[in-house]
Amino acid sequence: MADRLLNHIPLAKLAGIGPSLESKFSQLGIKSVQDLLLHFPLRYEDRSTSSAIGEVAIGETTTIQGCIIKSEIIITKRKMLLCHIQDDSGIAILRFLHFNMGMKSSLAPGKWVSAYGEIKSGSHYPEIIHPQFKIQSQKEAHSAFADANEERFTPIYSTTHGLTQNVIRKAIQSALILLKRNPPDEILPTTLSSRYLPVIESLDIVHNPSLTTDVEQLIAGEHLAIKRFILEELLAYHLSMLLIKFDNQRQHSYPMHITQHYIRPFLAALPFEPTKAQKRVVQDIYQDMAKSVPMMRLVQGDVGSGKTLVAALAALNAIENKQQVVLMAPTEILAEQHFHNFCQWFEPLGIKVELLTGRLTAKNKQLRYNDIELGEISMLIGTHAVFVDKVKFNHLGLVIIDEQHRFGVNQRLSLWEKGAKDECHPHQLIMTATPIPRTLAMTVYADLDVSIIDELPPGRTPVTTIVIPNSRRDEIIEKVNNACLNNRQVYWVCTLVEESETLDAQAAEMLVEELRLLLPHLKIALVHGKMKSDEKQTVMKAFKSGETQLLVATTVIEVGVDVPNASLMIIENAERLGLSQLHQLRGRVGRGSAISYCVLMYQAPLSKVAQQRMKVMRESSDGFVIAQKDLEIRGSGEILGTRQMGVANFKVVDLIRDQHLISDVQQASYYIQQDYPESAQQLIECWLPERQKYINA
Ligand code: ADP
Ligand code: MG
Repeated sequence: MADRLLNHIPLAKLAGIGPSLESKFSQLGIKSVQDLLLHFPLRYEDRSTSSAIGEVAIGETTTIQGCIIKSEIIITKRKMLLCHIQDDSGIAILRFLHFNMGMKSSLAPGKWVSAYGEIKSGSHYPEIIHPQFKIQSQKEAHSAFADANEERFTPIYSTTHGLTQNVIRKAIQSALILLKRNPPDEILPTTLSSRYLPVIESLDIVHNPSLTTDVEQLIAGEHLAIKRFILEELLAYHLSMLLIKFDNQRQHSYPMHITQHYIRPFLAALPFEPTKAQKRVVQDIYQDMAKSVPMMRLVQGDVGSGKTLVAALAALNAIENKQQVVLMAPTEILAEQHFHNFCQWFEPLGIKVELLTGRLTAKNKQLRYNDIELGEISMLIGTHAVFVDKVKFNHLGLVIIDEQHRFGVNQRLSLWEKGAKDECHPHQLIMTATPIPRTLAMTVYADLDVSIIDELPPGRTPVTTIVIPNSRRDEIIEKVNNACLNNRQVYWVCTLVEESETLDAQAAEMLVEELRLLLPHLKIALVHGKMKSDEKQTVMKAFKSGETQLLVATTVIEVGVDVPNASLMIIENAERLGLSQLHQLRGRVGRGSAISYCVLMYQAPLSKVAQQRMKVMRESSDGFVIAQKDLEIRGSGEILGTRQMGVANFKVVDLIRDQHLISDVQQASYYIQQDYPESAQQLIECWLPERQKYINA
């Protein structure tokens, strides 16, 4: 059944697909016939009707036909082939920047040609640059395109270098033929399937819509033919999460009861009172931890809302109950900062805290492994190095994952599986700062219970955000200087030149040189992802202690870093970053009582979208609002930054476009799970085969 849509048949089985095409397709994530069938068009084009040349509108995408009256190669800045065509109503030009002599001779005067593309305004005549064209026989001329393909909409697929639309189309057509010979069973329960079209018919419409099909509806995800697949995929996703949750509820964990042995003295020594929101969330956590079923709770709280304290209070409960705790952070810098905080908090209470990151020497790692196994370490903090197989806990009672959106759903699930290896499963606490709209959270975190910290600690002043072009760098440097002279500290974030840590690091190194020349009296330091662990640690310590005034950094400081005396942040190339990332970065300032500023520097001119983004940053400091705007500005068609959203890749679902379906899907999932467990299983096998292993139902 997992092969409902021929998932077991590799692409190479299709006629005409050899190793080279196979590897091209696999770059698109297409490995099986099923993947191919579920590679849905991005859009459709109508190539069936042709327009009279005299009536075409600039910007319109259409087909024109005419007789070639002149065909010439011209050389201006570069060589071009210009082909003039004429019909009864006017003249148009086909312009080719890439061509060969064969093309020139086939586009000879007197021949009839039809050409398809976007009409641009030329200096004398309308023109199409690089049209798709076809030389026509005299018989075809004047009659509209005759071949069958063009009586339908032409699907346009996302593709990769070296894979043409025609090749994709042909492959999909042969996949469809194969499917028709092996008709799939229905996997939706009848109550649902009766509302949709059968699978083959639906796929036919998606890949070969006739000219009467409402393709706008297909693109909008509203056509019955596509809705069935959206529904199937959402159901599969949701069901997998539900099954994981049910599975978890059948497990046992160690129930923990508060003794106050550590919690009371810890709170007494804390220089501030937890906020109401923190107290409420901690109560949720304590209630979960008192049960003999593993906790699976997500704590969502905006940057600076104080999630670390919540984690510490949860950890103390476990440690009071003689259990070990592990806290995992996505970056070394953050792991080190947590280590520093937890040492300060826990060591006076006599609790042993240790750090484990990938950068430790083999010998030191081994020492840690031993201590962990012997149960000598109560509180282990680290990066994902804490989840290698060699780490064997003596009695692990609680797993805390910080900034989980950095890990993604599948990674989170694999950690969950790793943590849960003994008879007794640890409780899990998952923390995230990226707030996502509620409907999306219902899907992405369907397996978790959620608590929200909806209040910031008192005494914070909102950060004032300023947007300035690069050209006014002098003023910014002046501002940095003033802040430092007033005993404040400054971050200067040098962002993504490319998606490359090395290039990022190089750019940051150059910037430091420049700033040292311009501001010789300041203490300036640099931190980036390519530095050694202990170097990073030294730099961060010096900044935290106030010794360093200006810290030049790559986005390694994006999450978690907490230095309350820093009150100015400069972000270079801010226009290239997403809103959630800007919000996270900006969250590094405004943590103390001083008025803080965030300067977003950009390279002019700003695109429309970038202008909107900058405006949102200036106007809002609320993570939920910013997340919502981020989605709106990106629009529904665009792919979500999966890293940012912590969302698994969907094949046909667009979470923004389809979010209105989510509450129905949630309800349907429950009854399918109850009444049609086989359907549930089949849906997951078909859509999320890789998630199978987390479900031991
Ligand atoms: P985040 O939620 O972004 O992880 P942190 O846990 O880093 O936030 O906390 C941000 C800052 O707020 C830290 O300096 C922390 O000590 C401080 N803080 C946390 N809770 C409170 C509180 N209840 N009152 C005052 N300051 C607090
Ligand atoms: Mg944090």
